[in-house]
Amino acid sequence: MSNDWLIILYVAFALGAICAIGIASELRRRHFGPAHPEDTVFRCAKCGNVYTDDGDVERSRCSQCGKLNEPMIF
Ligand SMILES: [Zn+2]
Repeated sequence: MSNDWLIILYVAFALGAICAIGIASELRRRHFGPAHPEDTVFRCAKCGNVYTDDGDVERSRCSQCGKLNEPMIF
């Protein structure tokens, strides 16, 4: 009888831990999600610098030389 309860408690604890990890990762994803929507990769046509910027901008200024660049399409 006490062995059954130990198994039930062990399973319940394991499930609880899995749920906690899932909730924590979901909260982390939501926390960082809005701050960094799909970043766009840019490559400077002038100096070749590869950098990222927010996905909602059409053109981004190079951090090295200041040239405006089109997003890189893969
Ligand atoms: Zn540049």
